[in-house]
Amino acid sequence: MRVSVICTGTELLKGTTVNTNLTFVGQQLGEAGIVPFRALVVGDSFADLRQALESAAGDSDLIITTGGLGPTRDDLTRNAVCDFLKLKLHRDLEIEAHLIRRWANRHSTAPDKDYLSQADVPENSIVLKNHVGTAPGLWVKGETEIILLPGPPDELNPMFENEAMPLLKKLVAEANFTSSFMITSISELIVQGKVEPLVKGLPLSLAYCSSVEGVKVFFSGGDENLIVQKAEEAKKLFGDAVLADNKLSLVEEISERLRGLSYTLGTAESCTGGMIAAAITDLPGSSQIFSGSIVSYSNAVKTKLSGVPQEILETHGAVSSECVSAMVSGVAKALDVDAAIAVSGIAGPDGGTDEKPVGLVYIAALLHDKIIVSKHIFPGNRDSIRNRAKIRGLLMLRELLLKK
Ligand code: AMP
Ligand code: MG
Repeated sequence: MRVSVICTGTELLKGTTVNTNLTFVGQQLGEAGIVPFRALVVGDSFADLRQALESAAGDSDLIITTGGLGPTRDDLTRNAVCDFLKLKLHRDLEIEAHLIRRWANRHSTAPDKDYLSQADVPENSIVLKNHVGTAPGLWVKGETEIILLPGPPDELNPMFENEAMPLLKKLVAEANFTSSFMITSISELIVQGKVEPLVKGLPLSLAYCSSVEGVKVFFSGGDENLIVQKAEEAKKLFGDAVLADNKLSLVEEISERLRGLSYTLGTAESCTGGMIAAAITDLPGSSQIFSGSIVSYSNAVKTKLSGVPQEILETHGAVSSECVSAMVSGVAKALDVDAAIAVSGIAGPDGGTDEKPVGLVYIAALLHDKIIVSKHIFPGNRDSIRNRAKIRGLLMLRELLLKK
């Protein structure tokens, strides 16, 4: 399926807003095995938007637009699509009633005309509900399908995930079947080198998406049996490095493992400042497996709350294998958990020395009486070092859980 994305908003071109919608839409499409072949950014101009639609419609099966659905004069997407496809607008009474109710909760006057125009829906459209803001999304059916999404990320994200993705996956499945999985700790090129010979000459396509977490592999094609069979064969080549149940998220897979074993987790985090705890608690239902975290950033908190003996700090320093070992057993004891992760390192940009450079991170993982410790020198800036430390900590915990 050939997909183009058109993001509208002059602020995106000026650089005052970062185009996170494109990133989000790309990631979501990836889950359906789709990689868009083009993205366009246009300002809030009717003519430019119309031209972008026309050129994208020439070679796309699906166009996804973001932004420009609101009630103000610079919101032009709905009208540009109707003008291009010669579609009439009609008032959707259910949306209008929703808009009137929302307005009445906030104002004592009657709603104005422009505000209610958000209830105008083009012919041949499916309404994608907006549970956060006012403008609904729209899916205009036709030879080229067009999905119109609102600009604010907090409205677009849940709408795309909950309203558009299920329909999109169905559409894709009619023409195409996808099987995907994630491999941790093995580089993209090695993955490709092993997988490619398995599928040589077969009617299926392969896509890879690599991140610090691992490599996502997507098999897609028209023959469901072939796709499933080859994906399963490929998974066997990588053993335990493959996340269970075709999961595409490390933290989700680990949470599931902990839940299955009825284990609880705690973290003691210095340079990651609670990022591991945040990643785990991002998932709904995490209270069943996650007890808490000690963000022991200062040495005083390391000794007071994470149970690191003063002499370890004096002899080896806070960034040392001795310190993370003490942190991990300290936090496991303090929080009375089955499993724990501890991190201490130098995220930079300052604070590095010849002996302990920026990027040096010690990580420990604990499962009952087993503790493993590792030392890393991560590349990149502060964000990258902290993110790598978070992922490595999770991978070490996974290693212990696998040996269970
Ligand atoms: P709009 O619906 O185009 O008026 O956009 C409303 C809000 O969403 C504004 O605050 C925009 O900056 C924001 N927004 C629009 N498009 C994007 C985008 N591609 N990425 C991130 N934020 C966006
Ligand atoms: Mg706009």
